[in-house]
Amino acid sequence: MDCLNSIAPTDEELISLALDGEALPEEANTHLQQCETCKQRLASYKQVNAYLLSHLYRSQCPSGEQLSLYCADLLPADERMSIASHVKDCPLCATEVEQSRSFLRMDFELPASSFSLRALLHPIFATRVISAQPQFAVRGDASAAAWPRKYKAESVDLTLHLSLTSSGEHMLLGIMTGIDPTESFFFFDCVTSDIYTAPGPLVANGDKSAASPLLRTQGDDLGHFVFKPVPTGQFVIVVYLPDRELVIEDLSIE
Ligand SMILES: [Zn+2]
Ligand SMILES: [Zn+2]
Repeated sequence: MDCLNSIAPTDEELISLALDGEALPEEANTHLQQCETCKQRLASYKQVNAYLLSHLYRSQCPSGEQLSLYCADLLPADERMSIASHVKDCPLCATEVEQSRSFLRMDFELPASSFSLRALLHPIFATRVISAQPQFAVRGDASAAAWPRKYKAESVDLTLHLSLTSSGEHMLLGIMTGIDPTESFFFFDCVTSDIYTAPGPLVANGDKSAASPLLRTQGDDLGHFVFKPVPTGQFVIVVYLPDRELVIEDLSIE
């Protein structure tokens, strides 16, 4: 399908318009408004664009978790470089990185007035998943103290990363993923999380103690939350999901 008019937009111009929304030169644009052939040319490029988006959409992109770790500077150098070069070319990831960075820079601490004690109605206790790492086989302690730490609770996977902020404080970054990825998007929308000095709000026999949280933070809609600064010690984390509370006990930070 070709338009023989000399002021018709070129294929390149139509592709830029269809893919990137780049405006046509004025003359070509006027022509497009009046030419059925060129309208059809544009429509077919738009169709290709929709196809590419639906089939290849983010297929080359690093996972949300990788991007968060990238932003928090928690990746090994080779991975960091490959993500950096992807982010340079991918506007979608670039936007996400920008959001994630500003999220990590934010002050997460909620005002003390919001430290009302929240009831734990359906606490679910996360289990630590310790992956078998052969290099730690002879020293069980080392693997228990290693970061990141993975936990599992019902349909939620949670990874905790510990990093140092530029001011030398400990920052605890939590990343939740749902086993069902379609559910997690709404599920994790800005959930509140508390960190308590152990023993926290639930003592061994299930009674509620009157402890107030050390820090309370609000997560982002991707299931990330950050506690900072975190001192060393023994802690309990409670994540308030919509219908239950995810509890991580026995969290030690040295
Ligand atoms: Zn035309
Ligand atoms: Zn990308």
